[in-house]
Amino acid sequence: MTSDAGVVVIGGGQAAFSAVSTLRASGYDGPVTVFAAEPHLPYQRPPLSKKAHTDPDGVRVQLAPESFYRERDIALRLGEDVVALDTAARTVVTASGARLPYAHLVLATGARNRPLPVPGAELDGVHALRSLDDALAIGRALTTAREVVVVGGGFIGLELAQVARARGARVTVVELADRLLSRAVSPQLQEQLRERHERSGVRVLTGTAVHAIEGTDRVRQVVTDRGTLPAGLVVYGIGAVPRDELARDAGLAVDDGVVVDEWLRSVSDPRISAVGDCARHPHPHAEGLVRLESVQNATDQGASVGRRIAGTSTPYGSLPWFWSDQGDIKLQIVGLRSPSDEVLLVPGDSPERLAAHAFRDGRLVAVETLNWPAEHLAARRLLERRTPVHVDDLAGTTLGALARARRAAEVRT
Ligand SMILES: Cc1cc2nc3c(=O)[nH]c(=O)nc-3n(C[C@H](O)[C@H](O)[C@H](O)COP(=O)(O)OP(=O)(O)OC[C@H]3O[C@@H](n4cnc5c(N)ncnc54)[C@H](O)[C@@H]3O)c2cc1C
Repeated sequence: MTSDAGVVVIGGGQAAFSAVSTLRASGYDGPVTVFAAEPHLPYQRPPLSKKAHTDPDGVRVQLAPESFYRERDIALRLGEDVVALDTAARTVVTASGARLPYAHLVLATGARNRPLPVPGAELDGVHALRSLDDALAIGRALTTAREVVVVGGGFIGLELAQVARARGARVTVVELADRLLSRAVSPQLQEQLRERHERSGVRVLTGTAVHAIEGTDRVRQVVTDRGTLPAGLVVYGIGAVPRDELARDAGLAVDDGVVVDEWLRSVSDPRISAVGDCARHPHPHAEGLVRLESVQNATDQGASVGRRIAGTSTPYGSLPWFWSDQGDIKLQIVGLRSPSDEVLLVPGDSPERLAAHAFRDGRLVAVETLNWPAEHLAARRLLERRTPVHVDDLAGTTLGALARARRAAEVRT
């Protein structure tokens, strides 16, 4: 074993798990310590919003059992919050005052939910969803709530709306913007998504502001600028902010996320890396710096930093992709679209399947699909290999068909 102070990882989520498992898989044999504020073994968040949870142990969402860490000599310090970084002494300080030195520090602190800034948001029966404990509280509330109001028509809100519908509740989604998922997907797909949610029985109110949540002991109704909605449960998902305060307080560059270079090292201190939801990074598929909130991003960035610290590395540049399961609706996104891209809607071979292909300067840069995994996978393969796809290539065809035709042509030559 090497005698250095080792690697300290702050955060016990998807990115932290990926970093420490990759470190060991890549042969790093120094000390590895993970500080995780939550008391649970590292777990995946996506399942939390896709069904109602009643499993108090969270075993089914764990990324690995306890033995995984023991066998790899990874010290998990669960329920221990890091409250300060001393970058001069290369030490982290925990809430209990303990200090631990590091040779490399990895910030994997994730993001926190944006609070709902209206009176009554603190009432019983009003929930946000980020952690396993939040999911369990919502799962319990869904066993009795008949009227559910979802504030925010983003991914988590729409997933939860479908979970509540599946439990038989009457569900209203209240969204301030004029469209659902207004920043995340192309306007062409937003209309389709709305239609599909409405068809499943979810009431959608866009362009609607929530003014207050009312009730005595617990929530009774939600007051909006378009009237009052009865509510036995309110769930809100109005975006997240990166947990970058440790970095900021330590004097590292922060700009809505810890600013890192193409190796995911803090631009202020090369011994500190940031990965996952808390990192703002340059990306070959983006103009300028981006901060992404996805499992792909957290996993690939954690792995990239794990490999670099273990001694083998290339700059980070994985193709971004994402999914969201909203009841029967499977939304998948690959690439990074910008608002000025040209979008072409391509129907699939059944009415449920639809794709929105985004082009920049005539060249394919991103693809959003509804209930069409094969088209998503074809897009991933083409974009990963950087195979140029021009808007004219797609006249009357799909990416799947195009990829097959190109493969056949390669075989012939
Ligand atoms: C409900 C939900 C559903 C989602 N669904 C999808 C999906 O379908 N598809 C998809 O691609 N992505 C999805 N995501 C996003 C995805 O889960 C995140 O992008 C991913 O978890 C980010 O990983 P991370 O390690 O950066 O952060 P996290 O997984 O959030 O982990 C960060 C951890 O760090 C801990 N921490 C923070 N500060 C400290 C500190 N000072 N000391 C100690 N510990 C600290 C936090 O408590 C937290 O446990 C979803 C997210 C949520 C919340």
